[in-house]
Amino acid sequence: MNEKKYDVIIIGAGIIGNSIGYELAQKGYKTLNIDKLGDSGAGSTAGSCAIVRLYYSSPEGVALAREGYYYWLNWRRYLRVTDPAGMAFYKNTGALVFKTSMNKYLEPVKSALESLGVGYLDLSPDQIKDYLPNPDLRSFYPQYTLNDPNFGKAADENVAGALFLPETGYVSDPKLSTHNVEIAARAVGADFMFNTEVTDVLVENGRAAGVEVAGGTKIFAPVVVNVSGPHSYLINRMAGVEDKMKIKTRALRVEVAHVPSPEGLDWENTGVITSDSDISIYTRPEVGNHFLIGSEEPKCDPLEYVDPDNYNTDFTDQNRTQAMRGAMRLPDMPIPNKNQGLVDLYDVTDDWYPIYDKSDLPGFYLAIGTSGNQYKNAPAVGAFMSELIQYCESGNDHDKTPFQYQTKYINHTLDIGFFSRNREINRNSSFSVIG
Ligand SMILES: Cc1cc2nc3c(=O)[nH]c(=O)nc-3n(C[C@H](O)[C@H](O)[C@H](O)COP(=O)(O)OP(=O)(O)OC[C@H]3O[C@@H](n4cnc5c(N)ncnc54)[C@H](O)[C@@H]3O)c2cc1C
Repeated sequence: MNEKKYDVIIIGAGIIGNSIGYELAQKGYKTLNIDKLGDSGAGSTAGSCAIVRLYYSSPEGVALAREGYYYWLNWRRYLRVTDPAGMAFYKNTGALVFKTSMNKYLEPVKSALESLGVGYLDLSPDQIKDYLPNPDLRSFYPQYTLNDPNFGKAADENVAGALFLPETGYVSDPKLSTHNVEIAARAVGADFMFNTEVTDVLVENGRAAGVEVAGGTKIFAPVVVNVSGPHSYLINRMAGVEDKMKIKTRALRVEVAHVPSPEGLDWENTGVITSDSDISIYTRPEVGNHFLIGSEEPKCDPLEYVDPDNYNTDFTDQNRTQAMRGAMRLPDMPIPNKNQGLVDLYDVTDDWYPIYDKSDLPGFYLAIGTSGNQYKNAPAVGAFMSELIQYCESGNDHDKTPFQYQTKYINHTLDIGFFSRNREINRNSSFSVIG
């Protein structure tokens, strides 16, 4: 069989895998990203809503998102190439985030934003009307399933208010942005291999030694990085590290609804992103003058963990449920007869925060468990993962003395130990896509 040798093999060519490849290749490593699909970003990245927002339930989450945001603002200069397929771009919209008991009325978020100098407006319920078309500001908490008689019933009181964060937006095309990173990585010497499935992780002398791919070819490298998205637990099993991790990952099936704007409203060009935990949805303006509506995982909705290679890709009631929840807040929103949107997978950890770490197998690294909320952070993750790998490969014990990453755009030191595979479950998490 053919034998090839690299410094680093990265399993996965999604936005995070490619960002790690680009950063390592810039540092002079001979890298290879391997993906079983035919193109960069064709996995869960392609289905991403690509929202770039700064509110998270923890200060670390806010700091990483703040750092990631600047990469998107500086996208072309960061990549230093022009992709013949086109360049993705960041579109700023601002975000309206509702205050609820679930997010502690955003008090922890406000402190984290303030400590990083992120501006926001603190809005009364009445001021929300300046941002949404004809909203119904009554509280609809808690949420129920579509077939429950309480579905859509409003409480007597109004919502508590909201924050408006002007620095929020989305990236025009997440798959294209991942291709942009591939072109940038190739320009600094990275290799990519598509339509190639990793079937085993090679171990020699107690450390990672490369991968075997379908057909039996072995490709050697002293460092292997698992960035396989919703398949991450399967790759961890190949490497024999899954049962040694305190925090696990699983593939969660999710639906996103696409709903037209109310008549006469140019939401595509004037709309904001919303995160409304009172009705348990987030929304984003979408091409075609649509609303794109994702779920914030209310307690009543069952979480559907699936086999990432065998799950239902058809819409279920969940699509309509999310659309109808949107219409609770915006009664003018027309609900189409035919479900529209997409079905995709998140790679979810036990506390909905990602794992960016080494593993118990020397030379085998993890950038997984992105829990539906790490697209925005990908370039920053690429930067610190490349340094984490250098830190560990030069003999430091990241488990004992966690790597401290000095962020590039903001004056901040990020304790990468926060993302450890062996952390205690983060009880401050929203246990939802919000992180
Ligand atoms: C519906 C949806 C909406 C989202 N919205 C947002 C959002 O608004 N904002 C945000 O920040 N994040 C969002 N996310 C999350 C974000 O998209 C992900 O965190 C991010 O795309 C993960 O990138 P990745 O490179 O880790 O994984 P992926 O893009 O999943 O890439 C992993 C790759 O590994 C490959 N692979 C798997 N197994 C193998 C194997 N055995 N051999 C070879 N290749 C393999 C797959 O083919 C895949 O291409 C959303 C996700 C989804 C699904």
